[in-house]
Amino acid sequence: MSHKIYPVPEDWKKTARIDDARYRALYERSVKDPKGFWGEQALRIDWISPFTKVKHTSFDTHNVSIRWFEDGTTNVAMNCVDRHLPERAHRTAIIWEGDDPSVSRHITYGELHEAVCRFANVLKKHGVKKGDRVTIYLPMIPEAAFAMLACARIGAVHSVVFGGFSPDALAGRIEDAQSEVIVTADEGLRGGKKIPLKANVDAALDKTPAKTVIVVTRTGAEIDMQPGRDFRYEEEAARVHADCPYAEMDAEDPLFILYTSGSTGKPKGALHTTGGYLVYASLTHELVFDYRDGDVYWCTADVGWVTGHSYIIYGPLANGATTLMFEGVPNYPSVSRFWEIVDKHKVNIFYTAPTAIRALMAAGDAPVKKTSRASLRLLGSVGEPINPEAWEWYHRVVGEGRCPIVDTWWQTETGGALITPLPGATDLKPGSATRPFFGVVPEIIDPLGNVLEGACEGLLVIADSWPGQMRTVFGDHERFAQTYFTAYPGKYFTGDGARRDADGDYWITGRVDDVINVSGHRLGTAEVESALVAHERVSEAAVVGYPHDIKGQGIYAYVTLNAGVTPSEHLRKELAHWVRHEIGPIATPDVVQFAPGLPKTRSGKIMRRILRKIAEGEFGALGDTSTLADPSVVEELVRERAGK
Ligand code: ATP
Ligand code: MG
Repeated sequence: MSHKIYPVPEDWKKTARIDDARYRALYERSVKDPKGFWGEQALRIDWISPFTKVKHTSFDTHNVSIRWFEDGTTNVAMNCVDRHLPERAHRTAIIWEGDDPSVSRHITYGELHEAVCRFANVLKKHGVKKGDRVTIYLPMIPEAAFAMLACARIGAVHSVVFGGFSPDALAGRIEDAQSEVIVTADEGLRGGKKIPLKANVDAALDKTPAKTVIVVTRTGAEIDMQPGRDFRYEEEAARVHADCPYAEMDAEDPLFILYTSGSTGKPKGALHTTGGYLVYASLTHELVFDYRDGDVYWCTADVGWVTGHSYIIYGPLANGATTLMFEGVPNYPSVSRFWEIVDKHKVNIFYTAPTAIRALMAAGDAPVKKTSRASLRLLGSVGEPINPEAWEWYHRVVGEGRCPIVDTWWQTETGGALITPLPGATDLKPGSATRPFFGVVPEIIDPLGNVLEGACEGLLVIADSWPGQMRTVFGDHERFAQTYFTAYPGKYFTGDGARRDADGDYWITGRVDDVINVSGHRLGTAEVESALVAHERVSEAAVVGYPHDIKGQGIYAYVTLNAGVTPSEHLRKELAHWVRHEIGPIATPDVVQFAPGLPKTRSGKIMRRILRKIAEGEFGALGDTSTLADPSVVEELVRERAGK
């Protein structure tokens, strides 16, 4: 655990719209009077018919029900597009940066309006109605945004499936959502490689048929088109009207379904609704990223993840922002790509994931330093606990010490950031997500459900609802209640562990399943991993527990070395000593296995569930591996482990 504190920089203090005192006062109000607080905040979006009821929520295990602004009506696309037209028709809504560095596009709010309307009319022409589910399986191209907003415009419910998923994973999600219309592209393009999206859809539909496939042209590749089922988007769009009225939606009408990334098991279809979600995405986008009119804002996530939904599309566009959408990957054509894009488009706010930061850090400082990055003002992180070492590097090298980092803790289920610094108000601690956002009531409990006070460590639960919360697991409300509200009745169980320090700051210690019990001492895997990553030769580490005769659980560490470092017995010992020295004898790894690569989800999260099985030697019981980015990594680890 790092003890360093980075106070709010002086220039940020001067211009902060929320400083520390205001944060404390507003936070207090938001949790004492949630109806008053959220009733006011909800006016940041436009309503068609105003709400009179603000909050109507119950976390009671037998009657879980979450409703916000329930008698109001609005439309998300109207809020993200139409209402900006009087002032922003000619301003850029989306900067699209292609995989090829010479290709980019600016789309104004006016152009966005027409594109969304045309897409909406195409969907309507193919029979899509309010409440119908549309599966979107697209690469990171503007049409992904058009399609999502088109669904919102007519009241259809989108289910975006990440373009990197296999036909099997896609079929499972189409089936679960029961969608009859699929939107895809001929091919995707990432890091110079083509991804056969349409062929994947064809394979998926062999398992679960659908009525209509709309195919956007990206590469112009030759693809099979099934007459009567498959349609070319460009031909369809040319034939429909350029305007489409937006539907009046109830605040609690579904907006989208999104499947969680599957780090812990079978993905769940998180259902988010209209009014509360948009209010929460838009408010957090403005305050967490200190978004100011005219800023260029870039979130590197894929729209297939909730981060892409809330912080590439809905939050920024609801705020009339310029949001950058990047088709490619951080290391193509070179590991300077992110920073070259920052310079090219004069990006002010940059938001990415620890996995990308660690990978770029392993390539050294030079590829960063050869770029200017003078436009950058704020950096963000999301997806996993960020190791203090990676945080420091991000701060010192990428941000040149001048950009605060917002380490935002949240989940698909939460719709937006729940624990996060606010850059003008919060002193930063590398590795800590710091304080709750307005209206969020985190608690740390012990395994029996007792609420712990003061500085403590345990399970993270949220005691009351916030507007961005998921409403149900699509088609399975029982699973929703079971997963989140049963183990600790009356609270939302996050599945994550956390520590609260004496200042009241929160440190996410990882998933609860990832806590190891070594001779009666509870250790968060994140802490041991951070110690390993702090070693100069280590690029990435994943730590799991395994059965140990004496200690109950032993510590098994998978370690990826920096480029050019050769694994050796000597280094193995050195790393074990290093951790012992950094944390204490209790944390000394029992086994260090060098791993050329770690199994990750498509969103870049380490799948410790699989690593646990390998450490236990249970190679036959690896569980659901359909969401793995690269299955060959697992084979390699199993081979190596079996040889031990
Ligand atoms: P599944 O629920 O299917 O296992 P998942 O939890 O990986 O998948 P997401 O909703 O994308 O799916 O990820 C949320 C999780 O990511 C959080 O519960 C937490 O474990 C981790 N996380 C996200 N942001 C942070 C952060 N800033 N610090 C620490 N952990 C984070
Ligand atoms: Mg989860």
